[in-house]
Amino acid sequence: MTASTTPIAFSSYPHDRIGHRRTDEDWLAEVWASDATRVLVVAGTRIQLVDGSYAWVSPAQAPEGTRVLLGERDGVVSFAVITDSVNAGPDWVPLRGLVLAVTEDEAALVVHAIGIAEWIWATRHCVRCGGSYEVMHLGHVLRCTDCGREEFPRTDPAVIMVVTDGEAPDDRCLLGRHPSWPPGRYSTLAGFVEPGESIEQAVRREVLEESGIGVGEVEYFGSQPWPLPRSLMIGCLAKATSVDISVDGEEIEDARWFTREQMKAEAEAGTLLLPGGISISRSLIEHWYGEALPGQW
Ligand SMILES: [Zn+2]
Repeated sequence: MTASTTPIAFSSYPHDRIGHRRTDEDWLAEVWASDATRVLVVAGTRIQLVDGSYAWVSPAQAPEGTRVLLGERDGVVSFAVITDSVNAGPDWVPLRGLVLAVTEDEAALVVHAIGIAEWIWATRHCVRCGGSYEVMHLGHVLRCTDCGREEFPRTDPAVIMVVTDGEAPDDRCLLGRHPSWPPGRYSTLAGFVEPGESIEQAVRREVLEESGIGVGEVEYFGSQPWPLPRSLMIGCLAKATSVDISVDGEEIEDARWFTREQMKAEAEAGTLLLPGGISISRSLIEHWYGEALPGQW
């Protein structure tokens, strides 16, 4: 559920993950023998693009590798097969490149496949005994071959928020910029949720740390999986309780309050560069603004 009808990329066209099939050997043999089944080959953590589209193959065409059940949509079952990264040629693209090429109907499947591949790649040894892991449950469990410990894929929650002051339509929106960004680029504030912290507390802490602005009311907006490498961006609408900005100078070099008129004029002039349409940051800003805005990174 989202608090608005503003679309959020990667989130609007999910597949059925059919988790109960991950241990169903008979079912697996049946769908793997079907030409209707699709396989996305992941070499290390890269995917092949052919003419800008993902190179889905049939099970018969798929190389040997770790099978990952992604799920089912519109009656079609999709898998990933993870192979060694040495199989990746020059037309194999890492996720950062895929994010820009991703189409909405494929996004959730690709993000799922890459997320599992990244997790298996990064999780080499058992955290309890240092033993080796074997892949179980069609890519969704790693089990230590020595002590039997089971490891599950993890997601790191991060909050991302549009902070506003006053009442619409005269309220202003707070955006900040990172020191390394090119001139004119601004975005919503964001940060990781710390252990023991609620979403609301993380929003208030991050906004205060980065901009000096106090936040009271926090409302959930919507979320977006962001697998670079494994974040879940939790979008929030935050009401400011103060207006005087004091940036930390490290994570945020500058922060500004924008009126709708200022944002439109500067975005049209190209002096303000807003985040790309695929990001939840863009969705948050346009939700506040009330309609689409021109220009992007
Ligand atoms: Zn172990």
